[in-house]
Amino acid sequence: MASDALTAGAITVTSKTIPEEQIEKILSTPGIVFTNGHFEYPVSNKEQTGNHLQSVFLIEPIAANKQYVDWIVDDIAGWLESEHIEVDVIFAPAQEAVKIIVDALAKKKNLRTVYWEYLPGGWFGQKVVAGQVKPDERVLVFNGVSQQGRCVGLRLPSFVEKLGGQTVAAAVFAKGTVEGVKDAEKKFGDRLYSTIQVSIPISTPDTCTVCKNDPSKKLIPWTQLKP
Ligand SMILES: [Zn+2]
Repeated sequence: MASDALTAGAITVTSKTIPEEQIEKILSTPGIVFTNGHFEYPVSNKEQTGNHLQSVFLIEPIAANKQYVDWIVDDIAGWLESEHIEVDVIFAPAQEAVKIIVDALAKKKNLRTVYWEYLPGGWFGQKVVAGQVKPDERVLVFNGVSQQGRCVGLRLPSFVEKLGGQTVAAAVFAKGTVEGVKDAEKKFGDRLYSTIQVSIPISTPDTCTVCKNDPSKKLIPWTQLKP
């Protein structure tokens, strides 16, 4: 699966420091990459409409492996040290798989955690659900997968700002390839960490080429994907 995706160029390893044998093992986890499909992410609800994606990357099966989490966390901690990034708090969506990684990183680096509301289907909520950002604190924003780049580039930093903190760096396990990701790369430079990059074409429902060219291809909510 993942090794096929690597071979096909769908996944690029962007961390220069994670040992090759570790990332190969991590990416061989079954059920992390779904390609050539028609997926909805986030899942539409009464108020909001989700996007249509041809591939999806799931962090959940990776976060379920403690060894893999430790390897990822070691690599992120090494990046913070080599870039001389000083932070007080990690700020992340309260998504179970994300919390596993963030809690491990916080423990290793002796940092506090603040979690933002995460709604079923993949949307951000409107409030902090655990922890607290104190005035002028230096914040690392984190997400497991940033398909669009907007979460770590714009949304999470805007929540941090409203809480009075200062986003000084951003980290994700997997980043996508669309414009929003490039914006986040420009904004943070070396202060944006990613372990891998995954090629994920994203469209709004009205510009989706799958809907247009293959209308019989059922749209599958990402929450229904099982490893
Ligand atoms: Zn579509």
